[in-house]
Amino acid sequence: MPRHSATFILVKDAAGFEIVDDYYLVIYPNTNVRVPIGKNLSPELQAICAKVIEMPSAERLEMLQNATNAWDGEMKQETKHANMKPIENGKIVPYSGWACEEAGCGLTENLWLNLIDGAIRCGRSQFISEGQKSKGNNHMKQYYDATGFPLVVKLGTIENETADVYSYDEDDAVIDPNLRSHLAHFGLDVDRLHKTEKSTLELELDMNQKCVTTKAAKA
Ligand SMILES: [Zn+2]
Repeated sequence: MPRHSATFILVKDAAGFEIVDDYYLVIYPNTNVRVPIGKNLSPELQAICAKVIEMPSAERLEMLQNATNAWDGEMKQETKHANMKPIENGKIVPYSGWACEEAGCGLTENLWLNLIDGAIRCGRSQFISEGQKSKGNNHMKQYYDATGFPLVVKLGTIENETADVYSYDEDDAVIDPNLRSHLAHFGLDVDRLHKTEKSTLELELDMNQKCVTTKAAKA
């Protein structure tokens, strides 16, 4: 039965890290023999390989769920704020139609919810492809600097109780095991939330993929 394998090569240069994926066809159990995927294969087999390559790999899925960033694959740790009690301010957060609450901003994407008081602010701008950056005015970071409320979750990344949660004072992506109750405090039922935005890590992985594709096209 044919299986596909992926090889990850980490290349460090002045610009930072890049992840390069190489795909080969191998015939189980002789997995040492690698057949390049190209015109040497029948069109049907090429199509099957293309489908398999398109699917998010098990590694990618695991990384998205557990890793703190794309570069070192370091595992996320449980936040030290897991048992914090959100402020009783009566704030109810709607299920959609979010916008940055900073005066004069109003950004409707790349938004973060502060789990301490329910404030909504935009995130930082980050590269999403070569020379292109996502929108963001860094208002949540400024909000943290002003209030000291450290735990935030990216709106639109919450599904099945997993989400892009960040802790400013721990300076890392973290796991909030009490995300369900923290969201419920602001009127949000985690079971009714679905993923509509890419997480920070997904954007980083996409960025790598785009760089690789661009380089391959240039070559
Ligand atoms: Zn903003």
